Amino acid sequence: MSGRARAEALDAADPLAGFRDRFVTADGGRIYLDGNSLGRLGVDARAGLTAAIDDWGARLVGGWHDWIDLPARAGDELAPLVGASPGELLVCDSVTVNLYKLADAVLTVRPGAVVLAESDFPTDRYVLAGLAARHGREAIDAGSDPSQTLRGCGEVALVALSHVDYRSGALADMRAITAAAHAAGGMMLWDLSHSVGAVAVELERCDADLAVGCTYKYLNAGPGAPGFLYVHTRHQHALRSPIQGWFGQREQFAMGAEYEPAEGITRFLAGTPSVLGIEAVRAGARLVAEAGITALRDKSLGLTALAIDLHDERLAPLGFELATPREPDRRGSHVSLAHPDGWRICRALIERADVVPDFREPDVVRLGMAPLYTRFTDVWDAIERLVRLIDAGEHLASDPTPTRVT
Ligand SMILES: *Cc1c(COP(=O)(O)O)cnc(C)c1O
Repeated sequence: MSGRARAEALDAADPLAGFRDRFVTADGGRIYLDGNSLGRLGVDARAGLTAAIDDWGARLVGGWHDWIDLPARAGDELAPLVGASPGELLVCDSVTVNLYKLADAVLTVRPGAVVLAESDFPTDRYVLAGLAARHGREAIDAGSDPSQTLRGCGEVALVALSHVDYRSGALADMRAITAAAHAAGGMMLWDLSHSVGAVAVELERCDADLAVGCTYKYLNAGPGAPGFLYVHTRHQHALRSPIQGWFGQREQFAMGAEYEPAEGITRFLAGTPSVLGIEAVRAGARLVAEAGITALRDKSLGLTALAIDLHDERLAPLGFELATPREPDRRGSHVSLAHPDGWRICRALIERADVVPDFREPDVVRLGMAPLYTRFTDVWDAIERLVRLIDAGEHLASDPTPTRVT
């Protein structure tokens, strides 16, 4: 079977096909392939947010009796999706702030270098470089083979890496790298922003110490929805948040004179949680749990495999190069295509072909496959539109000036 019929057959056999109707998709012929940057609005998330707004209006300050535990309650609901136990996760703050809190906590109690990837997501690199400087530590690039790099390092305090690389879509070997970090004397912190909701994550089984992650990508919790943090139970007592906020205080409403961190995961809270944002995270996590992470990962691999096949067949002759690993167990849920004209191609896809990918410097067009709502025919149609656009030279008419958000 070839051509579009193959994609149609895959859609017809897709056990998750019905989940697309759980999202708001009133965008006509648009093909949305940027769920790895901002997921679609879920029907349940919208209902959950509306209910939370009504609850706010009805209960006002009396609502805090329930709302106060939301970061931990939502964390417990999220825990199974990342292979963690109840009491190890909080939904709070942004990824950036959570990364800062956890990395600083480690550097306060452990000597040695910080190992990070110079190719990692900017906020991760900036936060880690800043903390390394502040604590007077060496920052070492993990390179293309972090396990190998770690074998050659001296004393290491912290290794912090993304599970799925935002630019290439490469999936790191969590178990092997965590073991290598431990062998070097360091704690391992994973950023799950590009994996949670699309890739099976086994934090405890891989013996990971710490993690942070994003909820507005494959968890579809909406722009600016809070991030999450994970601290393995064995470390919770020894680590302290650098932000001595009242939500991390042992008896918050005693309003005592001195800060004394709460026992357990809540010591990593800072201030008042975003109640509305957390409700959207809960709806997103429930939907992923309902679909099942195994089924989601299977479909995601099918979608990315189709994109890679179509790249080889139709895009490679047009000057594209696959920037994503071909091996299924080495890739996440987006496929990155490098092309010297990547920026103009990305703009033209959005403006002239109603296909929404995104662009990452220097030359990468990312196609994000969100297995809850992306169809196999979406992938096929997007590539068809891309080929036509380039054949017609339409990308050459696009403005080469970068926009503020890419
Ligand atoms: C999306 C993403 C973030 C986002 O951080 P914010 O604090 O929510 O802006 C951070 N790190 C990685 C790896 C990401 O993919």
